Amino acid sequence: MKRTIGAAVFVTLCAIGRIASAQEVDARITQLVTAVSQDRLSAILRKLQSFETRSSLSSLDSTTRGAGAAREWILQEMRGYSPKLQVSFDAYTVPPQGPRITRQIDLRNVMAVLPGRSPRRIYISGHYDTVARPGGQGATNATPPDPDAAPARPADPTAPLDNLAPGVNDDGSGTALTIELARVFSQSGIDFDATLVFMCHAGEELGLVGARLHAQRAIEQKLPIVGILNNDIVGNDKGGNGIVDGATIRVYSEGPEDSPSRALARFVQRWGGIYVPSHKVRLMSRPDRFGRGGDHSAYNQLGFAAVGFRESRENFTRQHDERDTFEGISLAYLAQNARVNAAAAAELALAPPAPVVYTDRGAPMISRAPSGYDANLKWTASPGAVAYRVFWREAWGPDWQHDMKVGNVTNVVLPNMQIDDYVFGVAAVDAAGHESTVSAYVSPARANTPIKTAGQ
Ligand SMILES: [Zn+2]
Repeated sequence: MKRTIGAAVFVTLCAIGRIASAQEVDARITQLVTAVSQDRLSAILRKLQSFETRSSLSSLDSTTRGAGAAREWILQEMRGYSPKLQVSFDAYTVPPQGPRITRQIDLRNVMAVLPGRSPRRIYISGHYDTVARPGGQGATNATPPDPDAAPARPADPTAPLDNLAPGVNDDGSGTALTIELARVFSQSGIDFDATLVFMCHAGEELGLVGARLHAQRAIEQKLPIVGILNNDIVGNDKGGNGIVDGATIRVYSEGPEDSPSRALARFVQRWGGIYVPSHKVRLMSRPDRFGRGGDHSAYNQLGFAAVGFRESRENFTRQHDERDTFEGISLAYLAQNARVNAAAAAELALAPPAPVVYTDRGAPMISRAPSGYDANLKWTASPGAVAYRVFWREAWGPDWQHDMKVGNVTNVVLPNMQIDDYVFGVAAVDAAGHESTVSAYVSPARANTPIKTAGQ
């Protein structure tokens, strides 16, 4: 029911149904997802706990305790997985500043890069640093939220902060997930188009410091980061109120509703649902939980697409507390969350880049031509794409309602579809059926032009 006129494909909409079941499943991704090991996650978490604290303010000179020992172990562990993985410290010297950085610190993210055929980068991340405060997060939650609450301090604020802070869930869980996926991806034998980066951040508990510094460096070095899947507190399925939920994971993303971060969040839900159907992704249309933050927001603030994974039922009495130990972890739950990350990152890294749907001047390439009442969608071809999938939904709704695959074209006309009534988007599809995130056509905000009045 398609006919090609000139460069555009005209589509008769009566022939199209919702074809969300038509995506192609890649057996290699299924195998990669299956390779996530609960036993490996367990071993990593026990090792992380053994450092007793991984605070970025802790002593760095011990080989068995504190952040220095922990980061060295993470580096060596990932180096052992595959010669393809380029593992290094992403290091910064940070002088004292703000309420939390009480002394100069040698701050090091641990970064493992799995080069792809193209330089565009997809990150899977967590933070390995920890904190424990008197009363923990439970006490913080019971009083008015204070996101800047200061950690316990030694008598001398310039001395190392070495109090017990095991941080097995916050964020040993996200760190173990990241390390395990570095293993699974680097040993998969898959030749990914995108470059994958497995990043264990430092300094999150000091104000997202490691993530902010890396995001700044990425801007300076023009690193083409296209998406960050950040995992922070993803290993516990038993809420402090007694409610247990081991079958869902929350994914937070900043708006507005068709921002690149929201596109990434929808992508996670869609492909997580295909490769890990037993685990439900709950999308949250807000940057994060009330009064709480995470490293994905540091990337958002510098313009990168990033989402935050958070367990569905938190136990605040264990967070930021000496009680954040291995006993508070559900390994089966953490493994499922790792599999959702793996599915989304693998699909994204195998797919072509998302189509560009804006002109160089920032105008969306959508019009009412040729009749004046049609939806005429144009985009720039993505390298590696052999087809595209067009999506649309009513202009009041959070997620795509309809989609259809079109051929290797860069222009589609949907007759009598009023562009004012729907949101449209397009994804790039390669020969094996891998799909990019959806690039949406968004009407740009109009600048305010103050009106002059006479006599002023
Ligand atoms: Zn955290």
